[in-house]
Amino acid sequence: MSTVERSGVDVARAVNAREISAREVTDATLGQIDAVDERLGAYLTRLHDMARAAADRVDARIAGGEKLAMAGVPVAVKDNMCLAGTRTTCGSKILENWIAPYTGTAVQRILDAGGIPVGKSNMDEFAMGSSCENSALLQTRNPLDLSRVPGGSSGGSAAAVSAHLAAVGLGSDTGGSIREPGAFCGVVGFKPTYGRVSRYGLIAFASSLDQIGPLTRTVEDAALAYDVMAGYDPMDSTSIDRPLEPTFSALRDDLRGKRIGIVKEFETGKLGAAIDAVYKQAYRDLEKLGAELIEVSLPTADYGLATYYLIAPAECSSNLARFDGVRYGLRVEGNDVGEMYEATRAAGFGPEVKRRILIGTYALSSGYYDAYYVKAQKVRTLIGDDFKKAFATCDLIACPAASSPAFVSGAKSDPYSMYLMDYYTIPMSLAGLPALSVPCGSVSVEGKSVPMGLQLCAPIFAERELLSAAHAYEKATMHYKNNKLDVSLHRAPTGNLV
Ligand code: GLN
Repeated sequence: MSTVERSGVDVARAVNAREISAREVTDATLGQIDAVDERLGAYLTRLHDMARAAADRVDARIAGGEKLAMAGVPVAVKDNMCLAGTRTTCGSKILENWIAPYTGTAVQRILDAGGIPVGKSNMDEFAMGSSCENSALLQTRNPLDLSRVPGGSSGGSAAAVSAHLAAVGLGSDTGGSIREPGAFCGVVGFKPTYGRVSRYGLIAFASSLDQIGPLTRTVEDAALAYDVMAGYDPMDSTSIDRPLEPTFSALRDDLRGKRIGIVKEFETGKLGAAIDAVYKQAYRDLEKLGAELIEVSLPTADYGLATYYLIAPAECSSNLARFDGVRYGLRVEGNDVGEMYEATRAAGFGPEVKRRILIGTYALSSGYYDAYYVKAQKVRTLIGDDFKKAFATCDLIACPAASSPAFVSGAKSDPYSMYLMDYYTIPMSLAGLPALSVPCGSVSVEGKSVPMGLQLCAPIFAERELLSAAHAYEKATMHYKNNKLDVSLHRAPTGNLV
């Protein structure tokens, strides 16, 4: 196995044991980035100098006798996370040249544990999207099939991890933005319980939903990164002050005694025969590991999408009000301050962001607030209650991670068909639950196999149970080993990618 293919856990072990230096791992990863990222487009900014300096510091600490949980592990940082001195664009023209003045808590914890920031990864503008096609700055491709999208909004981190351009990718998930790109790129995508990982230094989209989590090739790596990042932070008022149970040391190899809920309303037959077969097999595999499958019902989950597309735009219309040309990023001058605001926002935001701001402002406006925003909040409570009832009879829930496998770039031209991608992930986000996507097989499209993800979801704070179950499933099935990088990825750039 080449250096870049090593898991994060393996890299940290080897660097701590001084079998390899953090600098060697970093140089290998930067070399891989230089070799393929022109064609892939995972990174908006490459951080060669910062990465090498960080690696040398890690090697010095190891030489001084320290042990570091993530020693030398190459990390892709989604471009909505502040990393001091680096461009932090949110995939938007409005922040295209904005340099973060400080480092956010989750990123800082990774750096303190010896992680190496190798680049800032592409994303849908302000994390609004499911394919990375809404990035105003770069197109990211799916490393397993360059004609397809990597998913979104954390598509750059997912693509980077899948193509061995990092072992850990940091993502943020508001309605599915870690889990869906994880599924599309054949990697693990893990969204912790809302409030478990500090959002200090994460540029806000929808504050009652946003959560940071890792994208990795193995569940072990997800547990490693989560254990390092999670925990109370006084800098984030929504951060939860409650003792943390380490997950990595609790990973198990079986599911004996576990009751796994299969959601009646999420019958996979409607997704087509090939997809249905993959999920039915995944459920049987869970059973083979000792789990008891139980039917559960989430009667209000079907309202998740409509609820989310009121709450998330409402919150974003407020959060994005700060981008007006006065303080952050782009400013387009006008004759007076009003004109300046208008010109800046008209030029700086892309069409999807403008759509969300309009919807959100409408939903919050007087006369409509009760009919839309308050109603959506009530439905959100009902969705949470459905999950509570379901978890009275089961320990975990299993269901699809996305409505389809990765689609061809440009295939979804209307917003609604894009929104539908997150049908299965949004209910968990509204309920604040921890959930992840783990590779569960693939479907064959035009001779190529396109991966799919199984979503597992647990009650709040049950990260340990969740990761443990995913680890058992992964170990028994090893689907990620079947990922094959697109052969064109390694060809010299020709200028024309498709
Ligand atoms: N695709 C969803 C949206 O566009 C979710 C995005 C996310 O989780 N950040 O809002």
